Order: sequence, then structure tokens, then C-alpha cells
Amino acid sequence: MIRDPESFKLLLDTLARFVRERLIPCEQQVADTDEIPADILKEMRGMGLFGLTIPEQYGGLGLTMEEEVLVSMELCRASPAFRSIVGTNNGIGSQGIVIDGTEEQKRNYLPRLASGELIGSFALTEPGAGSDAASLTTSARRDGDHYVLNGAKRYITNAPEAGVFTVMARTDLKSRDASGVSAFIVERDTPGLSVGRPDRKMGQRGAHTADVVFDNVRVPASSLIGGKEGIGFKTAMKVLDKARLNIAAVSVGAAQRLLDEALNYALERKQFGQPIAEFQLVQAMLADSQAELYAARSMTLEAARKRDQGERITMEASCCKLFASEMVSRVADRAVQIHGGAGYMQDYAVERLYRDVRLFRLFEGTSQIQQLVIARQLMRAKR
Ligand SMILES: Cc1cc2nc3c(=O)[nH]c(=O)nc-3n(C[C@H](O)[C@H](O)[C@H](O)COP(=O)(O)OP(=O)(O)OC[C@H]3O[C@@H](n4cnc5c(N)ncnc54)[C@H](O)[C@@H]3O)c2cc1C
Repeated sequence: MIRDPESFKLLLDTLARFVRERLIPCEQQVADTDEIPADILKEMRGMGLFGLTIPEQYGGLGLTMEEEVLVSMELCRASPAFRSIVGTNNGIGSQGIVIDGTEEQKRNYLPRLASGELIGSFALTEPGAGSDAASLTTSARRDGDHYVLNGAKRYITNAPEAGVFTVMARTDLKSRDASGVSAFIVERDTPGLSVGRPDRKMGQRGAHTADVVFDNVRVPASSLIGGKEGIGFKTAMKVLDKARLNIAAVSVGAAQRLLDEALNYALERKQFGQPIAEFQLVQAMLADSQAELYAARSMTLEAARKRDQGERITMEASCCKLFASEMVSRVADRAVQIHGGAGYMQDYAVERLYRDVRLFRLFEGTSQIQQLVIARQLMRAKR
């Protein structure tokens, strides 16, 4: 649902200009330094990009899901590192509080997340619990009016920058499954919490992940999201439904950029006396990319509208995430192919983007996990 088409168009136009004039020209610098420059971050804060999805009463723009995916498609024409720094505040790092937080928790954290003053991270994955996240072993033992957290989290996006973490930990220490998991808000400077060195990744330089270790970290009982034990895994899955749809939109934006790069190159590069875009075998790669991109865009928008109408979209979100993340990898591969040897050289954006988009098939549930979710939903509907 688009609430006010005129002002939303203004937002998208402003963003498109920002992407074109500020972010794309800065991409190489971000890749070289592994940092997003402070002036770009300041502009992103000024545009409200950290609070896109946070309700207006807490200082955000309160975008609907349809508006959110359209914004992500536009923003992700630039290097995904720019999306990553605002991504957790708009997604996994804030939505646990937005969806299931108490009023006090919302008032305490959401305004600072919306302004970008505070960065939020989401800590579910552990060294021994990835796809099987419900087997996590980080513990939260009740001690009077506190909980004491122990354990380690892995590959946590924006952990080096984060001021606050949504942490999934086991409160029912005898349980082995999702029913014993609760979600906590843990502030960065709590004694016993430490963040490891940033991971050295395949791509997405400028976006950071790291381990987060909890060594007898004491948090007040009021940090329990929703004030209730045992609902933390459900909170995490609600957050991920929304986040998966967003990753589909991110994949669409990146695919659009890759196709633009491939088309521009094909029109300029000449072989056998003509632009390579004139060769039908090159045209086939461009056409397949456009067709798949259009399909991913359409399904993502349709699922977003369904969510805005209040429908549960667990299956649709997985379908979109699976198809769009696999699609962008194919588009990236063709974009490199169309560039020939140049596509293997760091002077061309497609070399970097090819590595960047590989992540989308891995995080927030691998493609195999999306397939399992889809099949489970299909079978459930028949029983
Ligand atoms: C850059 C990056 C950022 C991340 N950010 C975050 C974050 O902010 N917060 C967070 O909590 N986590 C984060 N993650 C973790 C991410 O969500 C996990 O890496 C992902 O869910 C996969 O888990 P795993 O790496 O342990 O792989 P594994 O679960 O070990 O999977 C390995 C392989 O086995 C397959 N597999 C596993 N189980 C099955 C099954 N039942 N059936 C078929 N195949 C299966 C997988 O599909 C995969 O191919 C991030 C990861 C990366 C790389």
C-alpha cells in the first residue's frame, strides 16, 4: 500500500538522485577503505534512511511494506554496503522491538534507532547453530530481577558499530528447541559483552560482521522483549518473514544495477566491427536477465501488498527470497560474462557486485532453508 503517492514519489526521486550522485561515485572508496565516509552517513541520517520502517510516533517514516521494498530496490542500485549500514535499524535490529516490544522498550530505543544515533544488531546465529537456529545454546539464567547471559554469537551484521543487540538466548535451560528461547535487548556497554574483530569477507566491503561474546552479562528483567519468556524464537521468525521480503527487494535493486552495467557495456564494446549488444547470444543474456528481474520484482511487490493487508506471508516471503537471491546471482554471472575479460577485473563494478550479491543466497536463511519453509507451508495447508 502506498499511502500518499505524491510524497512517496518525491522520496523515491530524492533517493534515486542520492544513489546516482553520491553513493555510486563513492563505491570504490568504500571498497578500498572498508568504511562508509562520515559525510555520507550524515546525509543518510538526514534523509531518514535509518528509520524507514520505524513507526512515525517513534520518530521513523513508518513505511508500509510496499513502500519499504520500493525504497530498497532503489537504494540497492548502489553497493549493498550502503544498505547494510541502515539495514539492521530498519530490519532485524529493530523489528523485534517494533513487533513484540513493550511500550517502554519502544520508547526507550526506537527513536534513537530511527535517527541513526544508535545502531541495532540481531544476534541469533551461533558457531554451532546456523540453519538450525532453534538449537542455540546461549543461555539466559534468571537471577532475581536480572538475567545472566552466557554464550557466543557469530557473523553478526553491524556488531562492530552496534550500540544495542537483540539477542536470542535460552531461558528454559532444560529445553532443546524453540520453546525455551527468549529475546533480550542488550546494550553494547554492558559489562561482560565483547565484540570480536570484524570478519574478513568475500565481498560487501564497508559492511561489517563480527562475533559477539557474552560472559556473565547481567541485564535487567525489563530487557526481555515483550516481558515474556519462551516467545523469543517466534519473535525472531516474525522479524525474519519481513526481512526475507526485504532481501528479495535488495536482490532486485542489485540485479537492476548489474543489468544496467551489462547493457551499457554491451552497447559500447565493439567486436567483429559492431557493438556486442548486436549479437543475439549476448541479447539472450540481457533478455533472460530482464525477464527474471521483472518476475522477482513483481512477486516481491505482490507479497508486500499482501502483508500490508494483514495477511501472513511466511511462504510468500520465502518464495521471494529464494527466487530473487538466486536470480541476482544468475544476473551477476551474466553481467560478468557480457564484460568478457574486463568482468574479471577490479576496474569494473560488476566484478565487485558479483561477489557482493553472493551473500543473499546465504544469510537470513539459505536457499535450502527457504525451500524447506515453502514445502512445509504447502504440506501444512493440505493437512
Ligand atoms: C555476511 C553475513 C551476515 C550475517 N548476519 C547475521 C546477523 O546479523 N545475525 C545473525 O543472527 N546471523 C547472521 N548471519 C548468519 C547467517 O544467517 C547464517 O550464516 C545462515 O543462516 C546459515 O547458517 P550457517 O552459516 O551456520 O550454515 P549451515 O547451517 O551450517 O549450512 C551449511 C549448508 O548446509 C545446508 N543445510 C543446513 N541444514 C539443512 C537442511 N535441513 N536441509 C538441507 N540443507 C541444509 C545449508 O543450506 C548450507 O548449504 C550472517 C551471515 C553472513 C555470512
